[in-house]
Amino acid sequence: MGIKVVKFGGSSVADAIQLQKVKKIIEADPDRKYVVVSAPGKRFDDDSKITDLLYLCKSHVDNNLTPLHVFQVISDRYRMMELNLGVKTNIDQALEEIRSNLKPGVTADYIASRGEYLCGILTAAVLGYDFVDPAGLICFDERGRYLPDQTDSRLSAELAKHERAVIPGFYGSTMDGSIKTFTRGGSDITGSLVAKAVNADIYENWTDVSGFLMADPRIVEGAKPIKNITYKELRELSYMGASVLHEDAVFPVRESNIPINIRNTNEPDNPGTVISDTPAESNENIITGIAGRKDFAVITLYKNMMNAEVGFVKRLLTILENNGIPFEHLPTGIDTVSVILSRKELGGKLQDLLEDIERRLTPDSVEVYQDLALIATVGVGMTRRPGVCAKLFGSLNDAGVNVRMIDQGSSEMNIIIGVDNGSFETAISAIYNAFVK
Ligand code: ASP
Repeated sequence: MGIKVVKFGGSSVADAIQLQKVKKIIEADPDRKYVVVSAPGKRFDDDSKITDLLYLCKSHVDNNLTPLHVFQVISDRYRMMELNLGVKTNIDQALEEIRSNLKPGVTADYIASRGEYLCGILTAAVLGYDFVDPAGLICFDERGRYLPDQTDSRLSAELAKHERAVIPGFYGSTMDGSIKTFTRGGSDITGSLVAKAVNADIYENWTDVSGFLMADPRIVEGAKPIKNITYKELRELSYMGASVLHEDAVFPVRESNIPINIRNTNEPDNPGTVISDTPAESNENIITGIAGRKDFAVITLYKNMMNAEVGFVKRLLTILENNGIPFEHLPTGIDTVSVILSRKELGGKLQDLLEDIERRLTPDSVEVYQDLALIATVGVGMTRRPGVCAKLFGSLNDAGVNVRMIDQGSSEMNIIIGVDNGSFETAISAIYNAFVK
């Protein structure tokens, strides 16, 4: 017998019908012993997530408005779930306690965390599992920083006492007991911490998509699923915008060599995507996935004999640092250097930045281009394989896409190209069609 930790996201626990699916999934495999839940999410497009409604209660309290109407909507949803599930829990009492705490001084973290807390109570009752509150087990310091060592020892000691348990996601507490949440989507992190603490064989993350696709299906219709992906490839693709999982959820399980399996609650027979450190044994497509983002700016500096001027790039990066702007890439030539920045990060600071560059670096000329899209083609299968670049650039040539920038890391696992925003979709489709059979 093994141990599987299963985490269900907001859409998987949105109502009683979804929770029945969760029950079926758990009952289909006795190894699914530890269950982490998010707060109920949207049931339909215009619906509200419970977590958003809870934050709304907090802003009502902060603005001296009564939060009780909003809280009534939240309470009704949980009561309806309890009724439709046909279980008897202490949800009324829990709701009453939360309601009485909705007054000035209440923290946003406490209020937001109650979505997961209440959902955990219902899920534990539906499954007949123990309810384990992560407050006091998932630990933060008084400044709100997560404490990995304390968490691991407390969580594993407590879970060892429960053969089967439901643990609400998203929150823990400081040493003095005040509730502290992770950032949004943080139940993924809880799932990962629980998997590490019980030394699980696998961390199943159940959501509403059947894992990762090789490209955005809004761009490439019928994009194929990715069956296996390494953590490194995932990091590259998520940086470029392909997100299903909270970024910080990867580290705890990766350290312990526990694979993550992204699964779909509405399509439980689909095997989804497995994320691990082991590359797929065979990959007929060579590449693992393509992802990209629009709206980058490129600032290119020309200066004769730049390569002989010691400290030039360092001074350029210091100017960015002083203006509080992170850079994404730094392609260099003999007498040129370009910095690629996200336009969002650049905000309204472009003029100040250019003035600083003129004053402190005295370049011969400076060019700014503001409509760049970056596309990453990722895959460990590309390493040490001749002809990959020829295929990729050949496909772009055939599609009439002009490549403005190329960046291939020495790992050879990722080729990043820069194209005009307007060519973004064409370029992704061309690369996909060139590689994927
Ligand atoms: N309920 C929280 C959110 O909506 C955390 C989570 O679902 O993971 O962000």
